[in-house]
Order: sequence, then C-alpha cells, then structure tokens
Amino acid sequence: MASPLKSLVIDDNRYQKSFQLFLERSSEHQCMQDFIHNTLPDILASIGDGKSHLNVIGVGSGAGEIDLEMLSQLRLKHPGVTVDNEVVEPSSTQLHQYKVMVSQKPNLDYIKCTWNKMTSSEFEEQWRVKKMTKKADFIHMIQMLYYVKDPGATIEFFQSLLDNKGKLLIILVSGESGWGNRSQLCNTEISQCVTTGDMKSFLDSKGVSYQSYELPSQMEITECFTEGDEKGELLLDFLTEVLDFSNTASPELKAGVLELSLITSLWYPILLSYNPNKNSLNHTVLTTSAK
Ligand code: SAH
Repeated sequence: MASPLKSLVIDDNRYQKSFQLFLERSSEHQCMQDFIHNTLPDILASIGDGKSHLNVIGVGSGAGEIDLEMLSQLRLKHPGVTVDNEVVEPSSTQLHQYKVMVSQKPNLDYIKCTWNKMTSSEFEEQWRVKKMTKKADFIHMIQMLYYVKDPGATIEFFQSLLDNKGKLLIILVSGESGWGNRSQLCNTEISQCVTTGDMKSFLDSKGVSYQSYELPSQMEITECFTEGDEKGELLLDFLTEVLDFSNTASPELKAGVLELSLITSLWYPILLSYNPNKNSLNHTVLTTSAK
C-alpha cells in the first residue's frame, strides 16, 4: 500500500513556518555561527591557491544567513578577493529572502551571485548539459543532504568540481546524536535520514580523507508532547520531514517518534543542561578536498 505520508518540502509555506520555528526553538544557527567564527577561518585560509578570484557554490542555501557569514570570513582571510557565488536553492521563498538580504547588506560588492532556483540534481544535470568546466574553491551543503535521492553520488559530483586546494563542507545531524539513531522510523520515500556516520562510511569506502568537527546543539521539544498543539505539530513536521505528521502518521509511528525524542533527551543529560525536555540534535561538519 502506498504510504499516506507526504514530504514536508512539497508545501513550501508550511516548510518555511516549521523551519523558522525550529530555528527559534533550537541552537541550530548559534552552533553554526560558533563554528564559522572559531574553526572555519583556518579552513578557508587554506583554499584558493593564492588566486584573486574565488568560486563558491552553496547547495540548499536557504535564506542565505549562514552563507553570507561564511563569505565574510572568506573575505577576511583573503582580503581583496572577488567571489563568484553560485546559489542552488529550490524554494522560491528562500531564494527571494536571500536576494533581499544581499540587496540590503552593505559591502557585498566583492560578491557576484548567480541564482539557481533548482534542486542539486537539477543543477548537476544543467552542469553536465552545459559542459561546464569551471572549478570551485569552496562548496558547502548545510543540512540539505537529507533531501536528495542519493547523498553519496551528490557528494561525488560536487567533489569532482573542486579546484586544487578546494574544500567541500557538509553539515548534517551527527551519527552520534540521539536523533541520528532514528533509522528504524525512517521512510526513505520522504527523507534519507542520512547522518554524518553514513557519510563517513561512504567516504571511507571511497578512500577519501576528511576532517570531522562536532557541533553540540540542542532543541526544546516540550510542545511536541501536547496533543493538538499547533507549534508542537510544526516542530514534529520539521523533525520528521513529513507534512502534517501528527494527523497522517499511524499511531505506532507517532508513538515511536515521540518515544525516540524522549529517550534521546534522556540519553544526553549533560548536553541537555539537565532539562529533560531538550533534545540533543548535534551536528557534524565534514570537510573534504579535491580527489
Ligand atoms: N543551509 C541553510 C538551509 C537548510 S534547510 C541553513 O543551514 O540555514 C534545507 C534547505 O535545502 C532548504 O532551504 C530547502 O529548500 C533546500 N532543499 C530541499 N531539497 C533540496 C534539493 N533537492 N537540493 C537542494 N536544496 C534542497
């Protein structure tokens, strides 16, 4: 029987609402900002091979806050450089917000954005059809590999675009975090439930070396346990990536997801600041170079 569950990404409006709420209820962007300011600068310093023009590709950039923060660190490490920034993002709402932010922020003259309103596989297809030979110095895919059919092939494609000394950066939920252990509840039609644990195994199997950094992050999930709570339902949609999860999932699946959320929060008491209602959602950053 076909699954009644639908992917949250097909309803852009609800996706944006639940993503915004998720950002409010979690330390998601804070942990990334810490990484961008404390660890990323050294990684960015190593790219570019002394060039005065750098090519960057952002895959699944969302509204671009994180992208622009990374680009400003890139510029600090490479003063005077100009940047060609290819943005790959299928949501027109997100892309619009990104464009508005770029038009309003001062001192971004060194960046030229190319807007690709498409998925990463459409971008890949376009790249092949146009027989593009351009190489990239920095490619990032932050919290997007859940949405592609074949995360390994996607990594391989983007890695093949890297120039000498180029770097690919991937951020995903950590295989070590409680939420990373949700594979038994996974519906692969909707999400790959992929973690950095899977990606590390993939890179190991291909003999690709990488660096790995853990980013501790938390999420407040109390509302998810109140039946009929609108915000709790939006958060559950985001966590499961299922549209209207509370009203379309079977009672067994709902119970499984809630139980997992609760167990997860009990497994990680220290990261949770002893608050049993907070859930660890740690992420890992993987960076890898051209083959
Ligand atoms: N990188 C941003 C947004 C993460 S949310 C941040 O960390 O804040 C995931 C993003 O991936 C969303 O903006 C969504 O529209 C986009 N996305 C969904 N499916 C995609 C696909 N197949 N290819 C590329 N991006 C995708």
